[in-house]
Amino acid sequence: MIRFEQVGKVYPDGTTAVDGLSFEVGEGELVTLVGPSGCGKTTTMMMVNRLIEPTSGRILVDGEDISAADPVELRRRIGYVIQQAGLFPHRTVLDNTATVPSLIGWKKARARERAAELLELVGLDPKTYGPRYPAQLSGGQRQRVGVARALAADPPVLLMDEPFGAVDPVVRERLQNEFLRLQDTVRKTVLLVTHDIEEAVRMGDRIAVYGQGRIEQFDTPAAVLGAPATDYVARFVGADRGLKRLSVTAIEADDLEQPPVARLDETARAAAVRLREQDARWAVVLGPGGDLHGWVSAEALAIAGEAGTVGDLARRMEAWVPLGAPLKQAFSEMLQHDAGWVAVVDGARFAGVLTPAKLHEALRRSVDADAQGVARGAVEFDSVSDA
Ligand code: ADP
Ligand code: MG
Repeated sequence: MIRFEQVGKVYPDGTTAVDGLSFEVGEGELVTLVGPSGCGKTTTMMMVNRLIEPTSGRILVDGEDISAADPVELRRRIGYVIQQAGLFPHRTVLDNTATVPSLIGWKKARARERAAELLELVGLDPKTYGPRYPAQLSGGQRQRVGVARALAADPPVLLMDEPFGAVDPVVRERLQNEFLRLQDTVRKTVLLVTHDIEEAVRMGDRIAVYGQGRIEQFDTPAAVLGAPATDYVARFVGADRGLKRLSVTAIEADDLEQPPVARLDETARAAAVRLREQDARWAVVLGPGGDLHGWVSAEALAIAGEAGTVGDLARRMEAWVPLGAPLKQAFSEMLQHDAGWVAVVDGARFAGVLTPAKLHEALRRSVDADAQGVARGAVEFDSVSDA
């Protein structure tokens, strides 16, 4: 969808901002550009909507060389979100959001209707916030309006330059999560600039790690953290990259152990006998459809004697996560509930349990898989430059 071919930018004063950039952003993909201040991220971004012209190479959007495109028409297809949201201070939130639809000639009523829809989408009640002015909003709310405005004309491409940079860490994390949920539904092709590796890892389907004016590594977050391509990248992602990896590695069915199970409606006595045979101290309690109901201890079953069913003795499962959730979530459930393991569910169905040993194995697996992933990424990257 967005393709850079050997793109360079030398500013008139002789500063080389970027050099030999080649990469591609697929349709519906979110790519983060991350690197220290001054490494050329904003320059890269502004060349896509032609606010800055490259001095070498070419950029294609949707297969079209943009140097031949009409810049105004091009920008209609590209939403732009910047730090501090860049809202017009003397226009209401609703009018700010309706800016682009109005510019491209929508009738006023339709533009406003669309703006109200978009405010709703980013979690701002249009009745409450629509009539306000930007100064009457919190930083986080202004940033949401910035996103709504960029999406108003439904452009296929979204450029976001440090969009969450101006808000405090707690609000930032909330905005990041909100945006990811939104992206799940709108599926824009997104280039997002940040200097924060945590943000890059959390947001990106893939990450471009910038050194001075060039890309040091372009790969999935897991690969960048697991197998940094250069010493520079390793230093940039930090010594705690092992921990960061927890948030980008998903729990898979193969990671799970299958503990003893007891059925909700079986007698306590039958379950107690079975657990004793298996030398097990507890069992997961499942409903008729294999749905997770809770857990029961061998002790509770034993002292129940003749009376009752497993269902009577089952306790609520506090620590559980869905299959596919990041390992970090499982780890944090374990800590929060002081549990030695967490249950993993696939929909409502019980899928198995994740133990600390399995968690460690899963982390290793993902490091190994990514060592191969990096080699694969490098091949794709070469073919871009050859084109
Ligand atoms: P980033 O967004 O990663 O902080 P920029 O793309 O803004 O980096 O800048 C990259 C380099 O280009 C920096 O060294 C910066 O000083 C320089 N630069 C940016 N804009 C101009 C300009 N208009 N003229 C000269 N140099 C510039
Ligand atoms: Mg910048």
